[in-house]
Amino acid sequence: MNTVEALLKQSCVLSEVSDSAYLDVELLLGFCLQKPRSYLRAWPEALVSDAVVKRFLQLLSRRQRGEPVAYLIGEQGFWSLDLQVNETTLIPRPETELMVEVALRLLHEHSHARVLDLGTGTGAIALALASEKPGWQLTACDKEAGAVSLALQNRQALGLTNVNVVQSDWYEQIGGPPFDLIVSNPPYIDADDPHLQGVGVCYEPRSALVADNQGLADIAHIIEHADGYLKSGAWLMLEHGYDQAGAVQQLLLKRGFKQLFCEQDLSGIDRVSGGRWI
Ligand code: GLN
Repeated sequence: MNTVEALLKQSCVLSEVSDSAYLDVELLLGFCLQKPRSYLRAWPEALVSDAVVKRFLQLLSRRQRGEPVAYLIGEQGFWSLDLQVNETTLIPRPETELMVEVALRLLHEHSHARVLDLGTGTGAIALALASEKPGWQLTACDKEAGAVSLALQNRQALGLTNVNVVQSDWYEQIGGPPFDLIVSNPPYIDADDPHLQGVGVCYEPRSALVADNQGLADIAHIIEHADGYLKSGAWLMLEHGYDQAGAVQQLLLKRGFKQLFCEQDLSGIDRVSGGRWI
């Protein structure tokens, strides 16, 4: 029999693939034991059954080959939420929480607002906003049926009733009155970007990561066609790559957006740009 402590020491095998090796093994072992990480800390000497050890070692070796923890355990924390994730869509990134933060700031005076999240994936941004602002009405769309059912599952699990999830290729199926804010974390990586060869990224769908035209094609489409979906005075805000802020601002400016802004993520990288439709 193995103890919790002995199994957590296996984290050393992940040192090459992960810069959060200890956290990774805690998440994997906690998942196999169906216990929170606090249990592992409280009971290092607890004995773990052979069946659980076997399962844990299987997941550990998949992690060692680069598979993301979030896909192995089917879950990823985002904002204050635990989201279910799977290979149909992107794993929500910590830097995307900046979108939630800025959205809350832009509309801080609105107790009621209509917000559209284009390419919602797991539903991360829309669900985080819905959980913070019960009075807001969110519409979350994705063109992938798998992502739509995942976002619906997450909505259900979180018990959020103010989010409408729609299958739509960007604006195609979006109707109703215009919005106070449109947010999007679209694919924005260039097909030749070496980042796509990185450990882990290859497990995620390319359609959620890669866009034509140096990664700018979807961003440009969203900016170009926002007219008609925005109230006067409403905001459009996009996540983008580390070197795309200038290009995104140019596109916003050319389309007639005013009060342009750019926000940096916690690593000091230009990550989110937007403007106002006046
Ligand atoms: N930021 C993600 C990455 O670096 C990409 C997200 C996206 O394309 N929307 O892998």
